Amino acid sequence: MVTGYSQNGEGVRAIECFREMHRGEVGPNQFTFPSVLKACSEVLARGFGIQVHGCIVRSGFACNVFVDSALVDMYAKCGDFYNAKKVFHSMEELDVVSWTSLITGYAHYGSHEEALVLYCDMRVYGFNPDQFIIACVFSACAELTVLGFGQQVQGYFVRSGLKSSLSVNNSLVTLYAKCGCLEDASQVFDLMEVRDVVSWTALIVGHAQNGKGEVSLQLYDHMIRSNIEPDFVTFVGLLFACSHTGLVEDGRGYFKLMSEVYGIAPGPQHYACMIDLLGRSGNIGEAKELLNQMTTKPDATVWKSILAACRMHRDLELGEIAARNLFELEPRNSMPYVMLSNIYSAAGKWDDVARLRSMMKSSGISKEPGYSWMEINNEIHTFTVEDRSHPRMLEIYCKVDEMMMLIKKAGYVPDRKFSLQDMDEGGKELGLTYHSEKLAVAYGLLIVSSGVPIRIFKNLRVCGDCHNAIKMISRVFQRHIILRDTNCFHHLREGVCSCRDYW
Ligand SMILES: [Zn+2]
Ligand SMILES: [Zn+2]
Repeated sequence: MVTGYSQNGEGVRAIECFREMHRGEVGPNQFTFPSVLKACSEVLARGFGIQVHGCIVRSGFACNVFVDSALVDMYAKCGDFYNAKKVFHSMEELDVVSWTSLITGYAHYGSHEEALVLYCDMRVYGFNPDQFIIACVFSACAELTVLGFGQQVQGYFVRSGLKSSLSVNNSLVTLYAKCGCLEDASQVFDLMEVRDVVSWTALIVGHAQNGKGEVSLQLYDHMIRSNIEPDFVTFVGLLFACSHTGLVEDGRGYFKLMSEVYGIAPGPQHYACMIDLLGRSGNIGEAKELLNQMTTKPDATVWKSILAACRMHRDLELGEIAARNLFELEPRNSMPYVMLSNIYSAAGKWDDVARLRSMMKSSGISKEPGYSWMEINNEIHTFTVEDRSHPRMLEIYCKVDEMMMLIKKAGYVPDRKFSLQDMDEGGKELGLTYHSEKLAVAYGLLIVSSGVPIRIFKNLRVCGDCHNAIKMISRVFQRHIILRDTNCFHHLREGVCSCRDYW
């Protein structure tokens, strides 16, 4: 009975049934325990799962491999990794099922690094991963944007001769798209025999984030022609594409389409994209209307779009409202203070600028320091502004000087406005010269062989001066530089950027 209910996804009934059985004369056995544990993980009944665990120990089934791996699975699915690992390490005989439970559990709860570490442990122990684990590892790599490691796992997967699955392919497309490798993403996509909405959406979002909004819209048409229905995420991708390509009409169209034709109620992300699109294109009035139309409470992403639009259009009144909401929603974030202070200073309201600054000081909020990083041969190299900690610091600084000299000859003028701006700390021009992204580019020029793109990540928005300088560097040094900041990917090549200087 317990097994029957559990297998049919009726977790609550299975648990009730087990309770009744426990009260009666019949003792559970090695088959009942895994079933009831499966039921617990389905309805996330960790409390009852712990009771069952106690019962298992008392009735002497604790060393049964099926029972133990069911316990690991139950704890991992409920997010209790302390107990999951405790049982896991006590197992006399590890099996691939338990590894899968732990790795997928970690990935599901957003602990991507732990998932990858466990994957490596598993390989050291001599276990071969299955498709579930591979899909999970690709997803974790995508979240962490560790391309090199993902490619190694892909290499292993191809050699292993395991048959690919839809979820393996989907997570691989997502990995490549999230790392800015659109060609590789498309290649995997093209070879797929079966595609679902996740596969299409991964590619749509990927193109949108890499400055190829038009391609996103074409992909969408293609997807519809292939009789696949879009979902919530597809529309986030489409609206993001429209907002970053300045396609106001298309954006309005998709926003209507999603609720009217597909019955998908717009969420905060959709509103945020639309407000962003309208704000950027000078339709601040319509953006305000949209804000008032929202049936759910606007979240931080929505207020950030509003604040950005207000900064662009110098709308003091609404800007203050947006900032105040953000102070409450994200009390540790310095961004709304900086943005509002920009609005005040543009309006010449210096008293308010000073007031804001002291407010920031008294609440102990400081600007998040900017840093850039690169993944080279499975190693992460991190740079902060005027960083002198890298072992090859001397060469890097020489390269920066060479870089700056050459681009100045080619017409680059440092934009001192950014030395005091919100994106990065640092002094005047000297500070600009040694911004973290410039140090990273210099290291890339030194270490990455020509013909291979230089990939850099930045934890904040790239500053305008670095953006300008890197564009010039891409032309002078004939390099393809890919910079991902908090907002999107910048593909810098031949002196132009895929974001069209709009980010
Ligand atoms: Zn900079
Ligand atoms: Zn750019």
